[in-house]
Amino acid sequence: MDDVIIGLEIHVQLNRLQSKMFCGCSTAYHDSPPNTHTCPICLGLPGSLPVLNKKAVEYGIKVGLALNCKIEEETLFYRKNYYYPDLPKGFQISQYDYPLATNGHIMILGDDGAERNIRINRAHMEEDPGRLVHAGTIDKAKYTMVDYNRCGMPLLEVVTEPDLHSPREARAFLDKLKSIIEYLEVFDGSL
Ligand SMILES: [Zn+2]
Repeated sequence: MDDVIIGLEIHVQLNRLQSKMFCGCSTAYHDSPPNTHTCPICLGLPGSLPVLNKKAVEYGIKVGLALNCKIEEETLFYRKNYYYPDLPKGFQISQYDYPLATNGHIMILGDDGAERNIRINRAHMEEDPGRLVHAGTIDKAKYTMVDYNRCGMPLLEVVTEPDLHSPREARAFLDKLKSIIEYLEVFDGSL
């Protein structure tokens, strides 16, 4: 049988923050009507400019340290251009060649019962897009609506090296990561 090799890319919504990544909109949108937590910045209206949420960077650094990463002295945001209806700016603000945190690792219990070291390639910050709401199922819907409440929500993307060798190990890694980010109070898993 061939060896199974798994690397993961995990999007953590930093949902314990009060405001979105680049604007002052409230993050408490989960029980709100569509498009009530928006402003010119997260709607990408012409002339609006993003202002980075300082607390989001602090949360990102906390997670980076807990994952034993190197926190970079300089970090850079850039525009990831793609067109999709849930992305009103036509680009997502993300990080590419200068991520916030690099070269970490955490331990999980491997399939053989021994501790296994899982390397973290990077953890970088980006913003969530909005959400498409189909009228019915995606293949039969006559129309689709868009809700921008989630647009601009702070995300931390955690990327592992391909160090996982089974779905069970991938699950063990996700459980460990979840326990870390809940302990750090940067993520509320109940949402
Ligand atoms: Zn906004």
